[in-house]
This record gives sequence, C-alpha cells and structure tokens, in this order.
Amino acid sequence: MTMDKPADGIRLNKYLAQAGVASRRYADVLIARGKVRVNGKTVREMGTIVSLSDRVDVSGTPVSVRDEPTYLVLHKPIGVMTTMRDPQGRRTIVDLLPKNIPRVVPVGRLDFDTAGVLLMTNDGDLANRLLHPKYGVDKTYRAGISGRLSPEDIKRLGEGIDADSFQAAGAKVRVVSVRAGYSVVDITVHEGRNRQVRKMFEALGHPVQTLVRLRFGPISLGDLGLGLVRGLTERELTALQRIAEQPEERRTP
Ligand code: URA
Repeated sequence: MTMDKPADGIRLNKYLAQAGVASRRYADVLIARGKVRVNGKTVREMGTIVSLSDRVDVSGTPVSVRDEPTYLVLHKPIGVMTTMRDPQGRRTIVDLLPKNIPRVVPVGRLDFDTAGVLLMTNDGDLANRLLHPKYGVDKTYRAGISGRLSPEDIKRLGEGIDADSFQAAGAKVRVVSVRAGYSVVDITVHEGRNRQVRKMFEALGHPVQTLVRLRFGPISLGDLGLGLVRGLTERELTALQRIAEQPEERRTP
C-alpha cells in the first residue's frame, strides 16, 4: 500500500468498485467511515493506492480484484434468463459462456423473450457506471409490432410518452418495414426500465411480437451468431470507457 501511484497500483475506491463492492463514490464513504482495511490496517485516506498483492477487507470480509478485467458480448437468444442461475431450472446466460473464464456478470438485463447484445464483464466499476441513468447509454432495439405506427404515434415516441408505470423520455424511431398488420421498427432509448420498449409500444396500442437489441452504446451485434460470445474490441472498450467517464450532460460529441 502506498500514497504514490506505482505502475501496478490503483486507487482504493476504484479497486473496491472493480471488486463489485460499491460505486467509487460509496467506496469513499466506506473508507471515510473506517470500514476498509488494507493488509490488516484501517485506512481513511481517499487517495490510498493498492496493488493486486495487497489484502483488502471491508467490515472484515475479504474482497479482491484478482481476475483479469474481462469484457464480453453475448448474442443472447430468446428463452434464456439474464441471471447467473434460475430456481426454475431454465437456461441461463451462464450456460452459454465459455468455461475457464473469469466470473463475469451481465450489464443490465434482457427479458427472457428478448434476444440481442448483452455486455458481460467483471469490471464492477464500469458496469455500475454504464447502468447509471446519468451516463445515458443509447440502446437500439429492432421491434416487430402489431399494426402500423401513425405519424402521431411516431411523434409521441419522439417526444416521450406515458408508458403505464413510467414516463419514457423521447426515443429515436425508424420504421424499417410495414406489412399487413405488422411493422418492423428500430427504436433507440437511453433509459433502462424494466420491459421499457414493450411498455412504450403497448401504451400506443401496438404490442411487441419480437424484440432484438441491435446495439448497446458502441457495441453492435454485427455478425455474431445467436448464442455466441466474443471479446470486446479495443475500440469498443475505449468508447465505453469514454461514456463511463463523462455524464451525458457534459458529453462532447
Ligand atoms: N425493453 C424491453 O421491453 N425488453 C428488453 O428486454 C429490453 C428493453
């Protein structure tokens, strides 16, 4: 432990966030309250730097960032739970991950009956930030809906609608195709409410029949096969980290 930054060290609040203990800000609160010990000694200095060989505990419980930071994209199929295990024995995303990789968790969730891009990581700090509404990560979905959107429906989606249990912010909408009684629509939202897209179309009287997430921030589905996993590219990771460093209202285009 040191107060200067060695090549392999990170700030204690970042370490705790990466270990999934708390957001960086709340980690600072834990440190200030004397809940955190490094190599058996209570630390209260915010700028403390730790390395991976230090022993860290919070309220007596050891925590660690031992694994390589890992960032994966899964093309989630429908019929799979976005959980690490399911008490009802349904298939979960864990069944689709390669064996012998560090333990990763999903960043947010997709419904059982939604397919598409699912980011998975063991970087708790990045995950917490990307899920926080103030970072407003854009998510694009391709929805197959009943009926045909009227110009008024498109305007309401663009301005933000009352979607039953919540007020949805304005979304970007592009009608891809229209056939008798059925339309395919791409919709981009930056919130992450439970069943958000389904509820938005439901509120307009156009229930969703199929839903696929095409894009999560800079990460696209591309040609990743259904049920398959790939690592993030350097470019995707850098773009995500940039989003996570800058809340939406201060983001430069
Ligand atoms: N909106 C939904 O309705 N479902 C999802 O799985 C994701 C977004």
